[in-house]
Amino acid sequence: MQVGAPPVPRITASPATATFTRLLHKPAYIMYPGEAMGEFNLDEAIRKVPDFPKPGILFYDITGVLVNPEAFGYCIDRMLERYRNVQLDGVVAIDARGFLFAAPFARERKLPIVLARKGGKLPGKKVKKSFQLEYGEDEVEMHEEDLATVRRVLLVDDLIATGGTLRAAADLVEESGGTVVEIFSVIGLPFLDYGGTLGDIPVTTLIEYHGE
Ligand code: AMP
Repeated sequence: MQVGAPPVPRITASPATATFTRLLHKPAYIMYPGEAMGEFNLDEAIRKVPDFPKPGILFYDITGVLVNPEAFGYCIDRMLERYRNVQLDGVVAIDARGFLFAAPFARERKLPIVLARKGGKLPGKKVKKSFQLEYGEDEVEMHEEDLATVRRVLLVDDLIATGGTLRAAADLVEESGGTVVEIFSVIGLPFLDYGGTLGDIPVTTLIEYHGE
């Protein structure tokens, strides 16, 4: 645990989270485990699209969150609440839906944003890493000089599946001499064992799904 970061509580027991604890190398902090999400039901705003982008994949579509200001505001408010007392000096935002959650958070906290983009999108001198997706293979790139300016970093994405994308981004942060204080994602899919991929990096999600 980093200095200044709050402890990562173990999730509370529920039928849904029992599977989760068995599968994960290290449990995520789910702000609202199971169905108990306080005053707002985020699940209703997340569209589930079967067989997209290919057969057998259930796509958790956060466009339903983005089109709903209450749902989007809820996500950003929970992020701000979670990291209020956590010392950060930058946010690394994952291409592309991660950008949307990282930007309002970083603006509110007055933090710089470094983009972790898919291959071939950034014009400057880059560092890069290849990784496996739930469906396919890809690479992540960051501007070397921007990455060098952030040392205590929050990584942000919309969804963690295998954790491969975030692992690649975390490796780049660490190879540059920075520290990944925590990973934030709106959605987690723990049955794909992102915990095993991400190792000791603390993870916070707002909602987790336990199957496709
Ligand atoms: P991974 O590297 O396997 O953790 O994949 C995470 C990235 O792929 C995120 O940027 C997600 O937006 C996207 N992704 C992977 N699987 C899904 C899924 N089932 N539904 C929606 N997005 C997904």
